Amino acid sequence: MSYKCHECGSPAVTLPERLDENAYVLCRDCLKPVATWAVFKRTMTQAVLADFKEAGSGSHPISYDPMDPGLLRAVAGRV
Ligand SMILES: [Zn+2]
Repeated sequence: MSYKCHECGSPAVTLPERLDENAYVLCRDCLKPVATWAVFKRTMTQAVLADFKEAGSGSHPISYDPMDPGLLRAVAGRV
């Protein structure tokens, strides 16, 4: 994971209560909207894929679907 707030550098975010494509993901520290959910989940997906690529060809992604419950838990765990 390589996401961080471009305002304060915090990796912690608050996900919108309703995961609407246009709902805003907020920075947990400075409470600024960092991206819409649509943009954020795309960023997260790319970050996860990059992590797996760095981990080497021997590891397989658990999921590349941003709506996968496991990935959402991983994101929520950072909030
Ligand atoms: Zn911030």
